[in-house]
Amino acid sequence: MAVPKRKTTPSRRGMRRSHDALKAEAFHECPNCGELKRPHNLCNACGHYNGREIVAVEI
Ligand SMILES: [Zn+2]
Repeated sequence: MAVPKRKTTPSRRGMRRSHDALKAEAFHECPNCGELKRPHNLCNACGHYNGREIVAVEI
């Protein structure tokens, strides 16, 4: 079995983990209602996409 020759130092471990953090999810304001929505997705609040209503939302 392959075994590491040297112990990973706290510094090396930190350098490896520097890319592990999660990024915040992308969001954008809906041009129709101003609610925050995900880009390229139907607005959950008003059902609009690309300037027209796709899904009717009961109020
Ligand atoms: Zn909207």
